[in-house]
Amino acid sequence: MSQITRREFVTGAALTPFAIRAPNRDAQQSSTDSTQLDIVVAGAGHNSLIAAAYLAKAGYRCVVLEDQPRIGGGVGTAEVTLPGFKHDLASSVHGGMQSNPAMKDLDLANYGLSYIVPDPVMHTSFPDGSYLTVWRDFERTAREFDRINPRDGQAFRRIAAELEEVRALLGNEEKLAQHSLGNVWRRRLKMSAYDMACHVFEDSRCRAFALAAGHLGGDPPCEPGSYRSALSVVSSGRNGRPIAVGGSDALAQALARFITARGGTVLTNKRVTRLIIEDKRCAGVECADGTSYRGGKAVLSTLHVKHLLDMAPRALWPDDFVQNVGMWRPEVAMFIAHYAVKEPPKYPVAGGTLSPCESVTLVNPARLLRLEFDDANGQIDTEDPPLQIVCPTVADPSRAPGGMHTLKINGFQPYAIRQGPQHWEQLKHQVADAYLNTLRRLAPNLTDDRILGRYIVSPVDLERLNRHFWHGSAHAGYDGPGQSGDMRPVPGWSDYRMPIAGLYQTGACTKPGGSVNGNPGRNAAAVMLKDFGGSIEEVAKRIG
Ligand SMILES: Cc1cc2nc3c(=O)[nH]c(=O)nc-3n(C[C@H](O)[C@H](O)[C@H](O)COP(=O)(O)OP(=O)(O)OC[C@H]3O[C@@H](n4cnc5c(N)ncnc54)[C@H](O)[C@@H]3O)c2cc1C
Repeated sequence: MSQITRREFVTGAALTPFAIRAPNRDAQQSSTDSTQLDIVVAGAGHNSLIAAAYLAKAGYRCVVLEDQPRIGGGVGTAEVTLPGFKHDLASSVHGGMQSNPAMKDLDLANYGLSYIVPDPVMHTSFPDGSYLTVWRDFERTAREFDRINPRDGQAFRRIAAELEEVRALLGNEEKLAQHSLGNVWRRRLKMSAYDMACHVFEDSRCRAFALAAGHLGGDPPCEPGSYRSALSVVSSGRNGRPIAVGGSDALAQALARFITARGGTVLTNKRVTRLIIEDKRCAGVECADGTSYRGGKAVLSTLHVKHLLDMAPRALWPDDFVQNVGMWRPEVAMFIAHYAVKEPPKYPVAGGTLSPCESVTLVNPARLLRLEFDDANGQIDTEDPPLQIVCPTVADPSRAPGGMHTLKINGFQPYAIRQGPQHWEQLKHQVADAYLNTLRRLAPNLTDDRILGRYIVSPVDLERLNRHFWHGSAHAGYDGPGQSGDMRPVPGWSDYRMPIAGLYQTGACTKPGGSVNGNPGRNAAAVMLKDFGGSIEEVAKRIG
């Protein structure tokens, strides 16, 4: 067999047509008079769409160019198994989005966006038959921990009360130090998620649940400062984990409607390949199909910074910028299996079964510490896998034909496996089978006759479906101290302005990073509007 270099493989793979049945549902496809544009937006993830929506509201004429046949990126939804089964290709839960002012500023409810907050919020079952569930009702959840170990029930109540007391101070070490619990929390803030789970809970099942339920971000659980993810079991009941009615892409579709209603255009199948530079200023972009788009005011990118660098001559990027982008590291990649099923998972519980929208699996809490080790070794590992299982149709039946369900099993595996990433195509079926078997041991109703279709996404496929998920990174890259806050994407360039005049950057590569919270999008819009002599506050207040 001839050797394929990684670069050749990714290029070839990117050209392979995908069996995506759902075309982009609403996004406008029209020819655009490039001479009239103010802003060219490269990539149509929710962040860049939010930024474009604010800019369109301010009166700027925007075009949004999306590589894929559908918009949304990490909030994409498509019928990838069978007709009528709408699968969220990446995210399902839009927790962070709920507090984003864009929801009101852009009146997204009026553009078709609404949410359901499932209850129960999160569940886990163990092979010994025990289980834990997070409910919206705090005391009900506390009693779940009591049932496993009364001391852990008390610990759950105690840490929740303390967290409530110090929550507002957590971003301010000076003020925190003055609080009676301040010095305790100053140490906790530096803890890893693993240490925090072990610090709070005694029973390994409570620890495993806290870790598995929280490990959905780009922060490794052994990383100092990642403590917060181990406390999501404590706070997620209060906030809930909302899903968009109709599918994750309801957010992108609402934003696209907002933009087009203000004269903007959203185009799909437009891969941006090059920045047009005139007088050392970014004047527009070129696409793979030979078209080009010029923005009189600016270009806003949500392309991965690794790719952005190659789209303009090296001499235009400062050396430290180039070096920093070179050091950008991915996170442990995600592996996803989508199923069309006749029934949701039914976990045995006292008095019957439970079918939650979201559940997780993990038996041994220390297993999470292997993720980074396996990643570094390129080792596929399916033993006691930490999985997130999402069955949105139990809360939102509109996503599948009558009485049927969509099911998503998310796990973590290395992108660069020992065998070489090109071997994922053969190996992905074994990994998906192992994940399904793990779930079946806990929810035995998911027998073959109840499974109607399957669509597997290896880490390499994930990057192919969305180039912004660089090396299978769900948040565009690792989110530890070296790549978060003012380090994101690059120290000195974290204010959404890029080193080339006229070029701005948003999306998960910018602060505060990935997930569906829309903050990089709104922040980028605020900076751009300020540079154009306006303000986001003024634009937000405008009616209509
Ligand atoms: C399996 C999985 C599950 C997840 N679950 C959750 C969850 O439940 N909750 C949550 O909050 N987060 C979740 N995430 C993370 C979340 O989906 C992402 O962090 C988030 O959607 C990133 O949004 P964004 O706007 O920054 O970029 P993206 O959504 O990645 O958008 C970038 C867009 O740019 C396009 N693009 C890239 N290159 C080009 C190019 N050259 N030309 C034109 N277009 C281009 C891409 O196709 C894409 O549409 C999950 C991620 C994965 C993979």
